[in-house]
Amino acid sequence: MFDNLTDRLSGSLRKISGQAKLTENNISETLREVRMALLEADVALPVVKAFVENVRQKAVGQEVMRSLSPGQAFIKIVQSELEAVMGAAEPLELSGKPPAVIMMAGLQGAGKTTSVAKLARYLKEREKKSVMVVSADVYRPAAINQLETLAGEVDASFYPSSTDQDPVTIANNAVDDARRRFIDVVIVDTAGRMHVDEGMMDEIGRLNKAVSPNETLFVVDAMSGQDAANTAKAFSDALPLSGVILTKADGDARGGAALSVRHITGRPIKFLGVGEKTDALEVFHSDRIASRILG
Ligand code: GDP
Repeated sequence: MFDNLTDRLSGSLRKISGQAKLTENNISETLREVRMALLEADVALPVVKAFVENVRQKAVGQEVMRSLSPGQAFIKIVQSELEAVMGAAEPLELSGKPPAVIMMAGLQGAGKTTSVAKLARYLKEREKKSVMVVSADVYRPAAINQLETLAGEVDASFYPSSTDQDPVTIANNAVDDARRRFIDVVIVDTAGRMHVDEGMMDEIGRLNKAVSPNETLFVVDAMSGQDAANTAKAFSDALPLSGVILTKADGDARGGAALSVRHITGRPIKFLGVGEKTDALEVFHSDRIASRILG
C-alpha cells in the first residue's frame, strides 16, 4: 500500500529539505508535486485540494521552529496534515448492556463475510470477548455457509439462519439468543449487491433500525480507489455508519481510499483488511499510516 505515493512524496520532500529556507516559490513547486502524487494515488479531488491548501497556509505562515531545518518543518506539516485528513483513531464503542451488536454493510465482494470472521477473532483474542456471528444475507445460501465455516475457524458461536427467513427476524432472534447465553458481542453480516440500489438500502435501513447496533461498519474494497469514498458516502447518507473497514489494503498500491474516506464521509476508518486470512486485520492508526506514507 502507498508504494507509489511514498516514492513520489519522498522525492519531492527530499528536494525541499535541502533548501536553506522555505519560500513561496519552493513551497509552491513542492505542493504542485504533492498534488500530482496524491491525484495519481487516486485520492478524491476535494481531499487533494483541501490538503494542499492547508499545507500551504501552514508552511507560508509559520515561524520556522528553531530545532528543525525549514525542509524538516515542511515535512512535519505534511505529516500532521496526512494524520488530520485521516482523522484520529476511534476504537470500537461496545459499551452498554450486552450483547453489543456490530452490523456490517457494503457491496457484494467487498469482504464483509471475511471481515466478520476477522473481527470475531480480533475481539476474542485481543479484547477477550465472547462472540456470536449471524448472517442476515437471505439471498445467497453460499454466504451463510461461508460464514458458518469461518465461524468454525475462529471459534465463534454461529447462529444458524436460512434463506426463507426475514433478515430482521434473524437478527433479533440471534441477539435474544446471545443475551440468554451471556455472549458479549453479536456480529451481523448482511446482504450486499453489486451496486448501490434502493431495495438494498431499504432493507438494510430497516434491519439497522430494528437492531440499533452499537457499531454499523461499512466494509469497502480499497482497490476501488476514490469510488470507495463515494460508495461510503452513499451508505453513510442512508445508514448511521459509525466507521469503515477498508479491505484489500494489501493489494492496493495507490492508497487513495485510505486518504479520502474520512474527509468525504466524516466517518473514521477503524480497521484495515490486509489479507485473506482471518488474522489479516489491523487497527487503523492515522499517525502510523502517515509515517508509512512518508516512508
Ligand atoms: P462479501 O461478499 O462482502 O461478504 O465478501 P467476502 O468476504 O466473501 O470476500 C470477497 C473476496 O475478497 C474473498 O475472496 C476474500 O478472501 C477476499 N478478501 C476479503 N478481505 C480481503 C483482504 O483484506 N485482502 C485480500 N487480499 N482479500 C480479501
